Amino acid sequence: MTRPTISIVAPVYNEEEILPKFYERVQSVMNAEGSDWELILVNDGSRDRSPEIMMTIAEGDPHVKVVSFARNFGHQVAVTAGIDHAQGQAVVLIDADLQDPPEVIPELIAKWREGYDVVYAVRKQREGESWFKLTTAKLFYRTLYRITDVAIPLDTGDFRLMDEKVAQVLRDMREHNRFIRGMTSWVGFKQTGVDYVRHAREAGVTKYPFRKMVNFALDAVTSFSYFPLQIMVYLAGFLGVMAIVVAIVIATLRLTLGEEFFGGQATTIVLLMLLSSFQLFFLFIIGQYVARIYDETRNRPLYVVARRSGFDEEVPAADT
Ligand code: UDP
Ligand code: MG
Repeated sequence: MTRPTISIVAPVYNEEEILPKFYERVQSVMNAEGSDWELILVNDGSRDRSPEIMMTIAEGDPHVKVVSFARNFGHQVAVTAGIDHAQGQAVVLIDADLQDPPEVIPELIAKWREGYDVVYAVRKQREGESWFKLTTAKLFYRTLYRITDVAIPLDTGDFRLMDEKVAQVLRDMREHNRFIRGMTSWVGFKQTGVDYVRHAREAGVTKYPFRKMVNFALDAVTSFSYFPLQIMVYLAGFLGVMAIVVAIVIATLRLTLGEEFFGGQATTIVLLMLLSSFQLFFLFIIGQYVARIYDETRNRPLYVVARRSGFDEEVPAADT
């Protein structure tokens, strides 16, 4: 079998309502586009009927391949497995919930043919998402941009195309807490963006509840920045100077106006709580980095594959 030109990778976690529509749109866009293509669906431990639907789609169309995880390993790991299994000269990452319209893929491919190695899709507008998600996302991308050393483009998700040489670098990056949009920026090469409107989900609900969003944000920050560790020194400096100033002020007041000034316990209690809170907060930050170091040292595989279908025999069993 010859290698396809374009590999499309879609992570799937409980998307039974959308999968048939997703496949329909991808195949009509790709058949019209004209490049030889494959669609790799990564089943990230779905508990609904998604696995059966994926198998039926794969049986009916040789373009479609399925990698099924032994359990839910998370969105970023599912995308990683898709990249590991992709054989195309370019790899496109797209969500399976149709928030990223497959109709944009030909635009990404056109830029790639112009010579760009990474073409990311920029969300010019986001429809059907809560005020909370929009504001936190906006704030998050802007803060991240300021505190990281790698220029991660604003308002981009994982929806992007990468050349096989970029995909190859990603395959060699086996870090456990993954922020793929940052990792593709980190690789370098010629990168560019294409604008699009991010639609509302076609059906189903988001698989990113608040807790997962926070974790995702922590992965992003700790993977690409030491800034949270560095702010400690500024705070330490500020508090040190304040301590000296306050000591001088209190001493002067007491010497000139009398002993009773600042005699109470209230100030002490409030300050003690404030400072303990700073200290615990920074312990938490250090803990976040330490936990991630621990993840790396255990050196476990990133994911466990339960089943593959639609692949030729030669595909490496890349499950680490
Ligand atoms: N997804 C996944 N594993 C997970 C969570 C999500 O494979 O643990 C998939 C999901 O099926 C979808 C994509 O990742 O195709 C993006 O997830 P979602 O739409 O829930 O995130 P949102 O768009 O709300 O940020
Ligand atoms: Mg979504």
